[in-house]
Amino acid sequence: MQERSFSREAVQDRLREIRENIAEACDKYRSDDNVGIMAVTKTVPPEVVNWVFDMGLDLLGENRVQEFQSKKDIYLPQARVHFIGHLQTNKVKYIINDMDMIQSVDSIRLGQEIDRLAAANNRIMDILCEVNIGGEESKDGVAPEELKGLLDELSALEHINIRGLMTIPPPSDSDIFLGRMAELYGSLKDEYGMDTLSMGMTHDYVQAVRHGSTLVRIGSGLFGARIYP
Ligand SMILES: *Cc1c(COP(=O)(O)O)cnc(C)c1O
Repeated sequence: MQERSFSREAVQDRLREIRENIAEACDKYRSDDNVGIMAVTKTVPPEVVNWVFDMGLDLLGENRVQEFQSKKDIYLPQARVHFIGHLQTNKVKYIINDMDMIQSVDSIRLGQEIDRLAAANNRIMDILCEVNIGGEESKDGVAPEELKGLLDELSALEHINIRGLMTIPPPSDSDIFLGRMAELYGSLKDEYGMDTLSMGMTHDYVQAVRHGSTLVRIGSGLFGARIYP
């Protein structure tokens, strides 16, 4: 297994550049600058993740239940965490009390389990619906034409709060699909009281901001390239 090295200065420099790029895209293409930055922490040791709190970030994105469980007790208490990965229904119970939001809801079955466990834990869980905007077979997410039906069903659940939409567009045509996602969000946000459009990763966050993203999720662009053992 290769050793991966992290440098606080490098993380700080990358974050500065990300912030500059976002500010520039907002200046040029938007009338607002409402864009949050999430630090996506998969494969990053928790001690390194904790550096970002000094740099003005407090939102983390986790995509694996087991990895999160092994790291969560080391995270500083001010961490806010969103779940962004594929979530099996039978694993919701492990994260229900640790997450501030679940961004990857793509079925009514998953929504019902989150609702049930949120009720049992006396809370309301914020969620996003993950949309498979490129219609890729390999990807999770609800098909765009099935989104409205899912939102209507989820709206009836009392212990979840639909905050918006999340997507991972096909990398090859991300600009086209980011635009489609923005249209879809624009057509639904008032009806469902949404305020969050989570899109944009290391390779496409500037385009995503141009298209109206309110939350970019940055992993390798902040911590450096991932090395999987
Ligand atoms: C890994 C991941 C990201 C971040 O990807 P980078 O390309 O490293 O920025 C964003 N969103 C989700 C859902 C991810 O799994």
